[in-house]
Amino acid sequence: MHPLDTLLEIALHLTSHQKSALKRIGLATVHDLLWRFPSRYEDFSSLTPIASTAPGEKAAVQASVTKVGTKKMFRQRIPLVEIYIKDSSGAMRAIWFNQPSIAKTFKEGHTVMLSGKVHANKKGEKYFVKPAYEIIQSTSEPIIQMDSAPRPYPVYPEARGMPSQWFETTIGDILPFIRKEPDILPPGILKKYHLPSLWRALEAIHQPKNIAWANAARKRFAFEEIFSIQLDRMRRKKLLEAEPAFSIPPSKNEIEELATRLPFSLTRAQEKAVRDILADFAHPHPMARLLEGDVGSGKTLVAVIVSLAVHKAGYQVAYLAPTEILAHQHFEEFCRHLRYFHASMGLLTSSECRKFPSKVDPSGSTHIAKTQLLKWIRDGSLDILIGTHALIQKTVNFKNLALVIVDEQHRFGVNQRAALARTPNKPHFLSMTATPIPRTLALTIYGDLSLSLLDEMPPGRLRPITSIVPRTKRAAAYEFIRSNIQAGGQAFIICPRIEEKELDASEQPPATSEQRAATTEMRSVKTEYKKLSKEIFPDLRVAMLHGRMLPKEKEKIIQSFRDKKIDILVSTSVIEVGIDIPNASIIVIEGAERFGLASLHQFRGRVGRAGQQGYCFLFTESKSAVSLERLGALVKAKNGFELAEYDLALRGPGELSGSSQWGISDLAMEALKNIKMVEAAREEAQKLIEEDIDLKKYPLLRERMQKLEQQELHFE
Ligand code: ADP
Ligand code: MG
Repeated sequence: MHPLDTLLEIALHLTSHQKSALKRIGLATVHDLLWRFPSRYEDFSSLTPIASTAPGEKAAVQASVTKVGTKKMFRQRIPLVEIYIKDSSGAMRAIWFNQPSIAKTFKEGHTVMLSGKVHANKKGEKYFVKPAYEIIQSTSEPIIQMDSAPRPYPVYPEARGMPSQWFETTIGDILPFIRKEPDILPPGILKKYHLPSLWRALEAIHQPKNIAWANAARKRFAFEEIFSIQLDRMRRKKLLEAEPAFSIPPSKNEIEELATRLPFSLTRAQEKAVRDILADFAHPHPMARLLEGDVGSGKTLVAVIVSLAVHKAGYQVAYLAPTEILAHQHFEEFCRHLRYFHASMGLLTSSECRKFPSKVDPSGSTHIAKTQLLKWIRDGSLDILIGTHALIQKTVNFKNLALVIVDEQHRFGVNQRAALARTPNKPHFLSMTATPIPRTLALTIYGDLSLSLLDEMPPGRLRPITSIVPRTKRAAAYEFIRSNIQAGGQAFIICPRIEEKELDASEQPPATSEQRAATTEMRSVKTEYKKLSKEIFPDLRVAMLHGRMLPKEKEKIIQSFRDKKIDILVSTSVIEVGIDIPNASIIVIEGAERFGLASLHQFRGRVGRAGQQGYCFLFTESKSAVSLERLGALVKAKNGFELAEYDLALRGPGELSGSSQWGISDLAMEALKNIKMVEAAREEAQKLIEEDIDLKKYPLLRERMQKLEQQELHFE
């Protein structure tokens, strides 16, 4: 076995408390531990006398501990550790919530360095909250002068019950044993881009001599990750290019007929996308294409048109939607357009199965039993199946699936092609997204896909007017909403959460009054619904929608909203993806600063879809300059792509949500700001694939590629 794969509980002496804490944060092996990088470094190189520290600013102090105490805080009885420190200029405190073990770390008389943001209470007493610390002297003997500048001090990400210092010492103990670890990156690449070797990088990221070392190490790991993903994508692309595929003629007449039945004409961008896809269908190898277009640019219609060609060629289509609501909506849209072409269509979600046309009413759909639907899919009498991830089950077997369409692919996991395509012939694959992402991210995660852009909106659509609404303008905004609704409009109100948040004992209670205010101001669907329906809009019809409701209830609410039986829908972000309510004219986003720019952009794409002027109100109580600048970008940006670049540039470390959204580490996400690096990684990956697609000379890289493939199979 590989030494890095050694289980931590075998490699280390761990208490049962530590074992369970490590398990909870998902660290099982030595590798996991070593790849848990510090989230930042504290710099002790410039010390401030306690008397000169200023509340609200960061400072590092060197002082001696005069007292260590523990008490319980709040009704939740959260343990609080307090240490008192003093230097020749003054005294202050440092506090830790929920880390009772910290009390054992400090003793009276210790000399310590503490670093962090300085807070002050009403009386003006200064304190640190959970500062970084280093114990310099554990006795009260005079301090030995340090002869070299102190190193930056690593601070590891929050881990319940596992202090940052545990990571620092443990990793420090392990590092010397892995000097001989072979490097996954080919030596030529390391040299060409001046990247540190694996061992040097691990040492430099955990125990940097200075910040420049740490940065070089971070760059290496980011390069490695981006390069690996690109290598994987390019390999897939190359392998796919060797596979046979269904050949699908362009069905010109039928497509023309469909187009003439539309009450509008296709945009040029839609026509071009259709042409791209039909050209791919004519190639002997499977298509792998991404259709990217802002909300409302008409992607679904492109999907409908190319599905018609597949149907006419006698093959089946599967359409994977991210939510039940959307699956339903797309099913209806497919039925509406394709009913003239003898296509039979099915809807499959975990809560319902439908079939079009219905025997009794040939222009409508009906509920059917799942076994019946599965049988029709299997024997090929169902032409087009639309659904949620319920489609990716072993029981769903197509007779001749020739096209897989995935809407907002990133919401599902890595890649659904393999999961759906258990047939000998690989189906064509069309991925669709309205989530604008920066070019560097697209080049990386979608490196295997050809691109069609819908960079043009259907004519006559007005861009929603976006404005930032501070607390003082709230009442005026509500009045505006009322008059808009009285004039026939409808409004969405989006809240960041479903219920009022209760203080979770495992979380750190808000330390400053500002933070406390932020928590209480975090508006929830349930409370806002009550307030809006009873106090603010008692004269209007208000309803709520959130993810914890039953699918049937949700569908019912959306239907009433669509039928204009509801004026205001208070909702969580469940409506973010693709909901199409043409009459909706206003969207309000509570706590707008809590959402990513891409999400906010999706939200505002929900209004003004029938040609009326739409409005997007960003409600915020934040005074942070960064938050306001981000929201300002939303007001200014002309389209989603511009916004995505902005978002990436404005993101600070710690704000990144790469792993949850894109399957990329925060570290690599940060590196995506650097187009040169991304292009270099791409170039190298390309070269390697051309030269040696089986990676015979690079067993470690081959192993990594196999791991990436296995991850995908697990998903099934
Ligand atoms: P997307 O999926 O890209 O967000 P949709 O496919 O939901 O966009 O399209 C939004 C609306 O625009 C739908 O009601 C659709 O019927 C309509 N639409 C699509 N293409 C056009 C067009 N070329 N002209 C006018 N309306 C269109
Ligand atoms: Mg859509």
